[in-house]
Amino acid sequence: MCRRLISSEKVPAESWNDWRWHIRNRITTLDELRCVVAPDEDETERLRRVVARFPLSITPYYASLIDFDDRQCPIRRQVVPSVEEIEDPDGVEDPLGEVEQSPAQNVIQIYPDRVALTVVTQCPVFCRFCFRKRLFSTTRGGAVRGLEKTIEYIRGTPQIKDVLVTGGDPLIASDSFLERLLRSLRSIPHVEIIRIGTRAPVVLPQRITPRLCAILSRYHPLWVNTHFNHPKELTPEAREACDRLLRAGIPLGNQSVLLKGVNDDPETMRELVRGLVRMRVRPYYLFQCHLVRGTRHFRTTIEQGLRITGALRGHVSGIANPLFVVDTPDGKVPLLPRRGLKRREGDYVVLETFKRTEWREYNPTADGQRKGREDH
Ligand SMILES: *Cc1c(COP(=O)(O)O)cnc(C)c1O
Ligand code: SF4
Repeated sequence: MCRRLISSEKVPAESWNDWRWHIRNRITTLDELRCVVAPDEDETERLRRVVARFPLSITPYYASLIDFDDRQCPIRRQVVPSVEEIEDPDGVEDPLGEVEQSPAQNVIQIYPDRVALTVVTQCPVFCRFCFRKRLFSTTRGGAVRGLEKTIEYIRGTPQIKDVLVTGGDPLIASDSFLERLLRSLRSIPHVEIIRIGTRAPVVLPQRITPRLCAILSRYHPLWVNTHFNHPKELTPEAREACDRLLRAGIPLGNQSVLLKGVNDDPETMRELVRGLVRMRVRPYYLFQCHLVRGTRHFRTTIEQGLRITGALRGHVSGIANPLFVVDTPDGKVPLLPRRGLKRREGDYVVLETFKRTEWREYNPTADGQRKGREDH
């Protein structure tokens, strides 16, 4: 495969618009990769060690968004392997201890009322920063084993009100598989909401077919969270894919990861969240990058995350603000910029606004007795 195959102008429309064509024509070898980016000889040799450890996969659609001449291209950085991946002494395999947090096969449970359910292990693309990087495999996708037993576990656990279908990327599975899965989950009376986490609208928008949307719409209330990281990903194709989901009555949220060299500056993040709300996709979470082995070159500091979310608050619509979270083995911990509640002064609290001004808000102590001004 070469450059001509990664452009919507060079591929017949019936192929380009067919998600299975993109799956079949994924870029998975360094030789194919040469057609998309221009690695030098020396680099290609060193990359062989990287892809032996962490395989490579890019859909032609997503590859077509890469700027061939820009080595710092944020799309390129997300999916093209880098020698830095094997220079990461601090990284750990499973920072969330997911292996231990599993009450049943394919289920991760941290919260009392909801579980993450892994249904496949494959993804259309392998994001180089993925926190499940240890699970990348070159084997053909397909459902995980023991799914029926897992569903029986959920059926027998009435505390579970919310099932988050995840992977890999669940939408790499066939329509008929997804329909069977959703039908089983919906037949469980205590499962109130179903959520799907998928990057398909970003890396494979062709997957969001009218047929898939019709299937999903039969299992409401169903929510979809997707994963845009950079404004360059907000293409007409992605917008249309989101629109089809929205028209099927599915609310869309977005979970980004804070990534060095991709979106770790306020300007890019503002452009991203504004673009998302224009597409009616609600920014939901911004994740601090996990300490996963092979992702050192993507890590920023938590302080940088706070600076960026602080730079959004007040400067973009309230609905465009994601919550900055650090994911821990005991759940997600939201962090807010150190603005807001500064201190108490008698019956007042001092608040700091986004304009960096201070506002004294009358707020009597719990007994409700007004003791006079703070100078009592
Ligand atoms: C993130 C996550 C959820 C969902 O969390 P919300 O804050 O409800 O979106 C549920 N289970 C696990 C294991 C998770 O990691
Ligand atoms: S789509 Fe999600 S799960 Fe798959 S490689 Fe990318 S970040 Fe990881």
